[in-house]
Amino acid sequence: MDVNSHAEELASDLGVDKTEVKADLENLLEYSVPIDEAVQSVRRKHGGGGGGSSPTPESVDVSAITTDHGNVTVTARVLTRGTRTIRYQGDDLTIREGEVADETGTISYTAWQDFGFEPGDSLTIGNAGVREWDGEPELNLNESTTVAIADESVAVDERVGGDRDLVDITAGDRGRNVEVRVLEVEQKTISGRDGETEILEGVVGDETAKLPFTDWDPTPALEPGAALRIEDVYVREFRGVPSVNLTEFTTVTPLAEPVAVADDAPRVSVAEAVASGGMFDVELVGNVLEVRDGSGLIERCPECGRVVQNGQCRSHGEVDGEDDLRVKAIVDDGTETVTVVLDDELTAEVYGGGLADALAAATEAMDKDVVAASIADTLVGGAYRVRGSLSVDEYGATLDATAFEPADDDPAVTARATLAEVRE
Ligand SMILES: [Zn+2]
Repeated sequence: MDVNSHAEELASDLGVDKTEVKADLENLLEYSVPIDEAVQSVRRKHGGGGGGSSPTPESVDVSAITTDHGNVTVTARVLTRGTRTIRYQGDDLTIREGEVADETGTISYTAWQDFGFEPGDSLTIGNAGVREWDGEPELNLNESTTVAIADESVAVDERVGGDRDLVDITAGDRGRNVEVRVLEVEQKTISGRDGETEILEGVVGDETAKLPFTDWDPTPALEPGAALRIEDVYVREFRGVPSVNLTEFTTVTPLAEPVAVADDAPRVSVAEAVASGGMFDVELVGNVLEVRDGSGLIERCPECGRVVQNGQCRSHGEVDGEDDLRVKAIVDDGTETVTVVLDDELTAEVYGGGLADALAAATEAMDKDVVAASIADTLVGGAYRVRGSLSVDEYGATLDATAFEPADDDPAVTARATLAEVRE
């Protein structure tokens, strides 16, 4: 478009005289202002959007940006850039999101159009909107925003680029790259917003951790055992733990070398796992303080598997419950407590008998609670090594155990256990 057509468009958009906006435009172009920026500037002068009341928003340090700012201008380095499609007011929109930083701090951004920048670029971002996202200020790069290469490279302390070990991946991350081995993969059909869709679900691992993944645009290279570099994934919480999401924008490249995967789960403290908001396949060691109600011999709804209380399912009303074994144990590792849930198999191990034995004991005593009481006798006061996925909700932390063993060999834990017994 030439100056004339821009002027025409602006005049009609803003409802002002064309000769006036054309004069304004030509004036700016004379000072070598790029045409797009000049258009925005004229638009703002005549009150036609652009958000800010001032034509050039305040230039600020990243750390000084608050949600009180309407619009800002920042000079910053692009750390990461992820691509994703979201449904916005009925339309599929491709957005770019990630973080930028300067010497003072880091801020995340969402770009509603492709400005063409990449991680490592130093930019002057003019007239970016500021909105609150997850309680923090975030930059919104929209049609009123100008993006230009900065005069000088911006020095930052943070790592440029999205490469991360799995242990450092957390929900909310965007534009991340990982090098992993595919450990499990399963094809699934889900009913999505556009009807039935095939997706892949599974688990990937590296030397630091394992994480579940979902591939929304199934990639044939995702086979068990494959060593892959996977670029541009985003991370969201799924069943309480971070999950790696692959999309149509994700690239998957086979690696020449195999990726080593640790057999052991990373050992964490309960406080650490809780602070991270949930972790997949971790190990912790602590003392059983209590075996909670709803342990031992329980009944489950045949429809949904929920635990039935007094013959009533929360969703299905009165049902003929099915017998099952479970333990909900409160474990304390000195930093915080977690409710550890043992399934029927792990429960049978700590009880020393299966469902038939439990039913026989309950019949003989004419009391179901004898099973839970016997389990409590075994567990309470003891130190245990627990492995599984830890999730956090408003009721606290829960660990779904995949392994549960005595931890007699851990001196610190044994000392604490003795102390706990002495206190009782
Ligand atoms: Zn039910």
